[in-house]
Amino acid sequence: MNIGTEAVQIGLEWDSRTGAVSVPIYQTATFRHPGLGQSTGFDYSRSGNPTRQALEDGIARLDGGARGFAYSSGMAAITCLLMLFKSGDHIIVTEDLYGGTCRLFDKVFNQFGLTFTYVDTSDTEAVRAALQPATKAVFVETLTNPLLKFADLPAISRICKDSNLLLIADNTFLTPYLLRPLDLGADITIYSATKYLAGHNDTVSGLAVVKDPQLAELVYFHQNSIGATLGPQDSWLVIRGMKTLSVRLDRHQENAGRIAKWLTSHPRISKVYYPGLEGHPDHILMKRDSGGFGAMIAFEVDNHALVEQVLLKTKLISFAESLGGVESLITFPEVQTHADIPAELRARLGINNVLLRLSVGIEDCDDLIEDLRQALEG
Ligand SMILES: *Cc1c(COP(=O)(O)O)cnc(C)c1O
Repeated sequence: MNIGTEAVQIGLEWDSRTGAVSVPIYQTATFRHPGLGQSTGFDYSRSGNPTRQALEDGIARLDGGARGFAYSSGMAAITCLLMLFKSGDHIIVTEDLYGGTCRLFDKVFNQFGLTFTYVDTSDTEAVRAALQPATKAVFVETLTNPLLKFADLPAISRICKDSNLLLIADNTFLTPYLLRPLDLGADITIYSATKYLAGHNDTVSGLAVVKDPQLAELVYFHQNSIGATLGPQDSWLVIRGMKTLSVRLDRHQENAGRIAKWLTSHPRISKVYYPGLEGHPDHILMKRDSGGFGAMIAFEVDNHALVEQVLLKTKLISFAESLGGVESLITFPEVQTHADIPAELRARLGINNVLLRLSVGIEDCDDLIEDLRQALEG
């Protein structure tokens, strides 16, 4: 079934007693037992809640995995999955990583003896070269943040299979509507559902899908033990957002393609990163594996003073962190989202003092271009 159709169906069959089309918000902490040693399938909402489960079942279907998990944030999802590893383990990680993930790995998990090597995961040979005897996993962002590099998942998954490593894919920027990492050899997908999946800048939430049923049992054990689960209200909001995933992403991408082209031709713009542009180094690979190029654009203006001018003068486009919502947002990665990446790595990657990141929303594209034009030329 088409992923867009599948997304619309989430939760539809949940309440067979009333036939409610929208899954009810089961705002309850606990559930009555029918008898001694008996359960309705729900006992306590940390362990399982019907609204959360409708979401978890839905994302598992969309990604084609054994089981889905909903967490109180994307970072909570990543934290829970890192519990699969133990002191002494080594993980290979995408270098232009979401700043919060880098902070979690380098400032929290390294206290527990995990070590991380950061490589350009769009370069498969760089992944192979980083292998160590203690390596247990490769953690990739399928489309990276903010420089929009795309990883060759089938090739990386062959390396992982050969060395018995888990392949974990943060697929936040693409969602299952555009890319299904589990079909391409990944073992686990992770989402900040805060972004495109929920899509309305109204909830912070995280999801994960595990392909193998046995590994999923262990991930469930950790989810329940740690307790960073998503509440029923927020689970409902994510389901509600996901129903329109396909129409939103179609519009997001159409706008992004036009805006990227327009930026390329603007005299004050010196560089545009968007994988939909033919000159982008991963354009062809992405065409092979992905149903689209997403709607994130990074671009360099011709001098630093223009950064502040653009952030101050855009009116429709809000200067704010986050991405993937219907509202267009612009941010300055060096200071905002990527401040936790070491300065030397930032410089090497190209996250510099003239780079801006645009999350293209679903507004009318002419209005967005006009907003950018007046801010750049103001
Ligand atoms: C936002 C984001 C996260 C973190 O998710 P939260 O929901 O903010 O905790 C992780 N990975 C990527 C790629 C993100 O964009």
